[in-house]
Amino acid sequence: LARNLDHMASLPGETADGHRVRLWVNTGLMADVVRSLERGAEGVGLYRTEVPFLLRDRFPSEEEQREIYREQLEAFSPRPVTMRTLDIGGDKALAYFPIEETNPFLGWRGIRVTLDHPEIFLAQVRAMMKASVGLDNLRIMLPMISGLGELESARKLVERAHKELREEGYDIPMPPLGIMIEVPSAVYQVRELAEHADFISVGSNDLTQYLLAVDRNNSRVANIYHALHPAVLRALQEIVRAGHVANTKVGICGELAGDPGGALLLVAMGYDVLSMNATNLPRVKATLRAVRKADMEKLLQQVLGMQCAEEIEETVRTYLKRIG
Ligand code: PEP
Ligand code: MG
Repeated sequence: LARNLDHMASLPGETADGHRVRLWVNTGLMADVVRSLERGAEGVGLYRTEVPFLLRDRFPSEEEQREIYREQLEAFSPRPVTMRTLDIGGDKALAYFPIEETNPFLGWRGIRVTLDHPEIFLAQVRAMMKASVGLDNLRIMLPMISGLGELESARKLVERAHKELREEGYDIPMPPLGIMIEVPSAVYQVRELAEHADFISVGSNDLTQYLLAVDRNNSRVANIYHALHPAVLRALQEIVRAGHVANTKVGICGELAGDPGGALLLVAMGYDVLSMNATNLPRVKATLRAVRKADMEKLLQQVLGMQCAEEIEETVRTYLKRIG
């Protein structure tokens, strides 16, 4: 498997026995677009809109944003592009919009900031929708959702922006509106959230951090940050089950999706979309194409019976070695 993976680009994302899995990419910079297309990305599961905001010294105007978003949407058209609304705060600070807090990961982050500043949110979703004219491949995704109220408030703003654009003469459909599941409170409300969202996508980087109470960027505790911790695996399994009960497609766009071992377990759980850095795409695709779904399910059952993250990691590592 580790040999030449160039030929993977033209092959579909599927298991050895033909079970389809959508393998999408995470993007931010324009360079990611080229890499993604070369590697045969089938869509974008997470476009981090904060990246262009971080590269500037002031908020980009609605028109500047429209141009940036248009490039992404055009490059991937007709493939879907999932644009996440601004996810600043926590570890992502804009120099021109300082947020000073003693506990930034538990503070003013993601959707909390943009709901408190609807003018920022509205400019952004207007720019996204204007950028999608004639393409229809836009999906909008909300970060750091912790309950239904935030989703409903955000939906009202998106609907308002959409209505105003229609009145201004833009002929655009209302884009699908999805949410990230990355806060533990959302895990316990997935079913209700999924009933009110057009899709859900797990942010496993933050979800792991919050479930284990381990700062994702603190090297002192990095040895206890385990994306394959038994508690995280149970949460991931529960999310996809509950999402499917609500008839909603369930994806994941954290680093775990780009890890070959993680990908095997996620496909066994039933995840519909795995979104990852383009760099990881060929390797993940090759791994999934080498294993039958029933065998992934066996591996999943085996690790779900384990109590310790290190044992799970070792089991998955050994399994990957065996398949080459
Ligand atoms: C995540 O939290 O898993 C995620 C995909 O979002 P970010 O890494 O940008 O916080
Ligand atoms: Mg996140």
